[in-house]
Amino acid sequence: MERRWKTIIEPFKIKAVEPLGFTTREERENILREAGYNVFAIPADKVLIDLLTDSGTSAMSAEQWACLMRGDESYAGARSFYRFEKAVRDLTGYRHVLPVHQGRAAERILMGVTGGPDKVFLSNSHFDTTRANVESTGAQALDLPVAGALDFAVPAPFKGDMDVRALEANIRELGAGRVPMIIMTLTNNSLGGQPASMKNLREVSEVARHYKIPLILDVARFAENAFFIKLREAGYASRPVAEIAREMFSYGDGCMMSAKKDALVNIGGFLALNHDDWVRRAREVLILGEGFPTYGGLAGRDLEAMARGLEEVLDEQYLTYRLRSIEYLGEGLRKAGVPIVEPPGGHAVYVDARRFLPHIPREQFPAQALVCELYLTAGVRSVEIGSLMFGPEARMELVRLAIPRRVYTQSHVDFLIEVFADLTRRAGGVRGLRLLESTPSLRHFTARLTPQPA
Ligand SMILES: *Cc1c(COP(=O)(O)O)cnc(C)c1O
Repeated sequence: MERRWKTIIEPFKIKAVEPLGFTTREERENILREAGYNVFAIPADKVLIDLLTDSGTSAMSAEQWACLMRGDESYAGARSFYRFEKAVRDLTGYRHVLPVHQGRAAERILMGVTGGPDKVFLSNSHFDTTRANVESTGAQALDLPVAGALDFAVPAPFKGDMDVRALEANIRELGAGRVPMIIMTLTNNSLGGQPASMKNLREVSEVARHYKIPLILDVARFAENAFFIKLREAGYASRPVAEIAREMFSYGDGCMMSAKKDALVNIGGFLALNHDDWVRRAREVLILGEGFPTYGGLAGRDLEAMARGLEEVLDEQYLTYRLRSIEYLGEGLRKAGVPIVEPPGGHAVYVDARRFLPHIPREQFPAQALVCELYLTAGVRSVEIGSLMFGPEARMELVRLAIPRRVYTQSHVDFLIEVFADLTRRAGGVRGLRLLESTPSLRHFTARLTPQPA
């Protein structure tokens, strides 16, 4: 398109539609009470706009739906597998490609092969399932985000970077033998969906090479990260985003991917590695838990749709719209006086509940209180990233508004901004919550809560 137009439009037209779940305030009060003030327990058809996650919620393209009919469902050596394997190899350059049913299966397999008591995994930030899979082997997961990553009010272009000096200091102190791998999460989901720079990735890979520790990329949102590099990092503005993505992968020795994000599908994932010995062992675990290595817990049609999605996600019209739509929500919230994590991330805007609801103490789950108030007010579902998710040692009280890919339009976002403007005026009246029941690990999925008395 010519550059003269300012308005960035959704680069698609809509062929199939689904109704939104309209409810009354009274219905929502009952639904939330029955759900134990945990939005994971709310039936999706009682949600008007669902920002719980961008995972597995993408709208597939007409071409991807067509891929489903081309799926080869042979048990071994299906045509769809070879197409998928080629797509992943062309993108990543890694030799071995193992499909899995979703990202955490790749984590469980790889951590199972490399983890164990006494081992320490080092990352810019482990995603919650990554951490859980590291810890379940008895190993420790250490986050080494760059300085400033937790200063939510201060914008910076690459807050997803790793603290390279801390990385090196930790390796020296632990001894390289205790560090099975270094993990770069791209973008950094747990800290606001912020990108890492190519420069940082290069520096981390130099440290990894020096100490002969494999660098594994957690690439759920590799395309968003690559486009941020194109927009923000010197020297990349005129490089095609596909080339930038390939350069990112070139610094790693392998990757874990949740295809439910940047492969634009509803289920799927993969593990891609150069390490022959790890792959041999990973294949054995894969067969035990997921299936034969040419389908890995998926149908042939899923592999086709993933292969296609990995190509579509690198379309620059798509990525321009994608990052602009998140930024547009961020701008609207900022104007409405809502404190957000700056700058907006690649897949979500994060509201800082500690600043938005300063009258609610930590022990009363301010971020979860805001999640509940959003649902009560307008049927909008979001998710807490705070002390309900991480326990009392949580370093943040955030509400994540994750935007599904190619699903909502600008008027949905304008509506969200209006809802938040209304909430800003009533914030002082929002009440905290008390925990009734929970499980020890990943408790935010199943916890039950109740409002504090007025
Ligand atoms: C979603 C996600 C995972 C886990 O993937 P699932 O497909 O949900 O199992 C791992 N890492 C990151 C960064 C993610 O965003």
